[in-house]
Amino acid sequence: MYRTHTNGELRLEQINTQVTLAGWVQRSRDLGGMTFIDLRDRYGITQLAFNMEENADLCEQARKLGREFVIQVEGTVIERSSKNKNIPTGEIEIKVSKLTTLNAAKTPPFTIEDDTDGGEELRAQYRYLDLRRNPVQQKIRLRNKVALETRKYLDSQDFLDVETPYLIKSTPEGARDFIVPSRMNPGEFYALPQSPQTFKQLLMVSGFDRYYQIVKCFRDEDLRADRQPEFTQIDCEMAFVEQEDILQTFEGMIKHLFAEVRGIQFDYTFPRITYAEALEKYGSDKPDIRFGMEFVDLTELTKGKGFPVFDSAETILAINAEGANNYTRKQIDALTDWVKRPQIGATGLVYLRYNEDGTLKSSVDKFYSEEELAKWAEKTNAKPGDLVLLLCGNTDKVRKQMNELRLFMGTELGLRDPNVFKPLWVLDFPLLEWDEENDRYHAMHHPFTSPKPEDFHLINTDPGKVRANAYDLAINGVEIGGGSIRIHDRQLQAQMFDLLGFTPEEAQEQFGFLMNAFEFGAPPHGGLAFGLDRLVASMGGSDSIRDYIAFPKNNRGRDVMIDAPSALNSTQLKELNIAVSMENH
Ligand code: ASP
Repeated sequence: MYRTHTNGELRLEQINTQVTLAGWVQRSRDLGGMTFIDLRDRYGITQLAFNMEENADLCEQARKLGREFVIQVEGTVIERSSKNKNIPTGEIEIKVSKLTTLNAAKTPPFTIEDDTDGGEELRAQYRYLDLRRNPVQQKIRLRNKVALETRKYLDSQDFLDVETPYLIKSTPEGARDFIVPSRMNPGEFYALPQSPQTFKQLLMVSGFDRYYQIVKCFRDEDLRADRQPEFTQIDCEMAFVEQEDILQTFEGMIKHLFAEVRGIQFDYTFPRITYAEALEKYGSDKPDIRFGMEFVDLTELTKGKGFPVFDSAETILAINAEGANNYTRKQIDALTDWVKRPQIGATGLVYLRYNEDGTLKSSVDKFYSEEELAKWAEKTNAKPGDLVLLLCGNTDKVRKQMNELRLFMGTELGLRDPNVFKPLWVLDFPLLEWDEENDRYHAMHHPFTSPKPEDFHLINTDPGKVRANAYDLAINGVEIGGGSIRIHDRQLQAQMFDLLGFTPEEAQEQFGFLMNAFEFGAPPHGGLAFGLDRLVASMGGSDSIRDYIAFPKNNRGRDVMIDAPSALNSTQLKELNIAVSMENH
């Protein structure tokens, strides 16, 4: 037996027990006649004690051990003279009688401690060592717990876990596909699924009624902190449901997860907001509602008063940064530079200070009277001590800019506590989205999403106005999941493809399998998918999904540990009938 106990297990109750332990050398300390070693495994750390006087050979042997050596020891559990209250095993130590080195280790390129000295790139290259660190292990364990509780909840609700294939035909979810060449079918390619969307719908046609899968999805798109080329969804679909059934089922799941994993009880129904209202109030379809600071439209009060910048703007928006009146001139200048950066692109920033003495001071005093400024203050609900910030421009743009400013001020004012969670359903997304570049409509969610029946009459005359039965769940400003009620009628699905610019032949070629299935008795159905990586990161109070993935890719889509992607050798290429050209590079 390699070990009788783990390194997180032994307590005073086991005093005088003979034990065998195994693990990694975390650290060793020589104190004159004694040598102490911290032995680590996934479960914790146990202190090993070697006494020079009692057993010089063994002690010498212990002194030669380097960091991260894998060892096995036999010994007796004894009470420690100086106890360490910070760890659960801190009251005992092992008086070692036998030591075996199971494997030596080179000095690790960074310290395997909670706070490491290793840079990101180095840690990524040696991810297997980074994964030994306790904070990283905690994150992977959190992920395991979320996945496990997801399965428990969905199982209790009669969902069946059904696997769907990875080698498929393109499913449009708005990104590029990853492509896999087929050796057996020269010149033909599979696409890796951007999601199992069409398969889960087919499972509803097959009568499975409630499906889920914790599944990898692949999207070839530019990466950010919250995106990976391969990521994991909790993918779900239900038959004979309306939107309300879905919202309730999955609100239940999120509540279950927070209760079981974080001990957080949501004893209220998650608030809901329409997409239109979310844009109007927050300039975002995933608002962070941990704090207010909602947009106030000041166009009427500010336009046409002789201030040229406002006079020529379509919309003038304000937020009230409560309590930020103490911002110095310098801070406001820095804020102005911040909103003018190309990433945000505002033309400038106007402010209104509501001073503690009740006076109002604005950067555009020249153009507005005291009474006019008082009206701004009233409309934005400003009080003495507040700072009102105004941006102007084209409505869509100024909303986006104000969203950035609002989030920035929220962070600055400490209103975005990572341990406070505010879920929000966003409903009634538009069915279509205009693509300026290609001069055509795209499905905002995906082409299988059903239009709202009450908007359907607009489908040919004003398609951009048609709302969909589509919904997202946002938590703290992060889109955690989304879905829709699907089209289950062949005719309507064909019409949708037509609207999206597919010829009937193209639609048949790409999605004939789905439309044909709809002719054999397709039940009304709908579903959604949660991004597991984002959900876990959010529950862990972090923005970066990478930390919650055991082997993530970097922001160039590379796995620097295994060095992928990489070139293929000529034999492989030949077998696949592929010639590589770097023409577009
Ligand atoms: N397949 C969709 C997605 O990946 C989710 C859904 O509509 O169920 O976003």
